[in-house]
Amino acid sequence: MIARYDCAVIGGGPAGVAAALKSARGGNRTLLVERYGFAGGMATAGMVNPFAGNCYVNPDTGAAGDVVDGVFGEVLRRLRARGAAERYLFHPGQPRYYDAFDERQLRIVYDELLAEAGVEVLFHAWLLDAQISGGHVNSVRLRTKGGVETVEAKAFIDSTGDADLAAAAEVPFDVGRAEDGLCQPCTLMFSMAGVDKDGLLDAGLKTARERVTGYFEDARKAGRLDFPFRDWVAFYEYPRPGCLQFNMTRVCERSALDARQLSAAEREGRRQADVFSRWLAAEVPWFKHAYLETMGTQIGVRETRRIRGQYSMSAGDIREGTRFDDGIARSGYFIDIHNPKGATDPHAAAATRGVPKDSFRAKRYYEVPFRCLQPQGVSNLLVACRGISTSFEAHAAVRVMATMHAVGEAAGAAAAMAVKDGTDCSAIDGAKVRRSIEYLNRELAF
Ligand SMILES: Cc1cc2nc3c(=O)[nH]c(=O)nc-3n(C[C@H](O)[C@H](O)[C@H](O)COP(=O)(O)OP(=O)(O)OC[C@H]3O[C@@H](n4cnc5c(N)ncnc54)[C@H](O)[C@@H]3O)c2cc1C
Repeated sequence: MIARYDCAVIGGGPAGVAAALKSARGGNRTLLVERYGFAGGMATAGMVNPFAGNCYVNPDTGAAGDVVDGVFGEVLRRLRARGAAERYLFHPGQPRYYDAFDERQLRIVYDELLAEAGVEVLFHAWLLDAQISGGHVNSVRLRTKGGVETVEAKAFIDSTGDADLAAAAEVPFDVGRAEDGLCQPCTLMFSMAGVDKDGLLDAGLKTARERVTGYFEDARKAGRLDFPFRDWVAFYEYPRPGCLQFNMTRVCERSALDARQLSAAEREGRRQADVFSRWLAAEVPWFKHAYLETMGTQIGVRETRRIRGQYSMSAGDIREGTRFDDGIARSGYFIDIHNPKGATDPHAAAATRGVPKDSFRAKRYYEVPFRCLQPQGVSNLLVACRGISTSFEAHAAVRVMATMHAVGEAAGAAAAMAVKDGTDCSAIDGAKVRRSIEYLNRELAF
């Protein structure tokens, strides 16, 4: 069976959903292919929370606001209308905030948006391979329960996170940090329910984390808790009574591109979640009646392939807040490197490999140029996911979910332009894509 589309988007995470929406709204007959039975990728299957990248604190005015709107803004507003997203401050009295959401409701919001835009969605379909000739993707094959299907399209968008389609199309790529190829660790996210949140969070998130970290350090020192994977307790508010979201497990030096290593990582992530959640319930007062509520459908994967594109973002671009004529996405997120060797690596500080964390903060918000989505050597393919063309350090900043909605949105808009003009995505001018995204032309009000 051969199906034909204007645009096929492979991978339905935050970037893929936004890409498919904008492609369809721009007039393309669009297919979205997703291996799970729901969209959202790390935001739903990975239980990653909260959204990051949208909040930016203007160093001149001290005020905070969103630098990302567009599809991301629509998603956030729909979640809020369902009572499924809340904005929380990191520290009382300081402007920096985060948007936490109920990931089950996000699945429904994505379904609604995709249906309204007329995107055809194929769940339970894996990319199998790609047929290429002369730097052009002619078709892809999908493995589905019903057998192997072939999909032809004028434009393809790789939103698999792992840049699976780009790799199948022989786009050059890099993996991991320059010195040893290691990627950031994987983390199985989980939630606890039955938590006394009123008591724990009465003085804000920072104090709450410090309180629990105090118990954590005591238990480790006394040998009652064998948990060397994190050196502090990281949890976030969650917009449901009695429920908190934990980013605590760490599985290092396992490649998410290798099924056996990934399988081992899944088991280790669950083991760590079990050890940590049982300790919380046994020893920490606010968790006396708490229990491990749920965990990600899959372990969270921070990093795999980064394609080589027409431009590669550097750490300097992030730190200096570089602006580009073809800047199609904005972000306020910092270079957030979780040490590939884990919290106990004696050669590096836990998060930043020995470099003071402040030097990883951007002086002002930065932009992602469209050229990072344009791969070398393939003309009708855009990569719109965390696998865009960046250095290891820049990847650690741009990978977050608000930014990925924005990157996907731009790819979808570009694919619609390409099909309308009868050309390939490689010929599309990123400055034109930028101009077509309404919120990027607005002055920030803070
Ligand atoms: C533990 C952890 C904590 C994080 N913390 C935060 C945070 O606090 N805030 C934040 O904003 N971001 C955070 N991030 C980053 C963020 O979640 C991801 O980088 C982001 O979701 C990437 O979006 P994406 O659309 O590129 O890819 P993904 O979200 O990975 O989506 C890719 C989609 O493609 C599908 N897919 C993959 N391969 C195939 C294939 N071969 N065939 C068919 N479908 C396929 C997947 O099922 C998935 O739906 C965190 C990530 C991790 C792992």
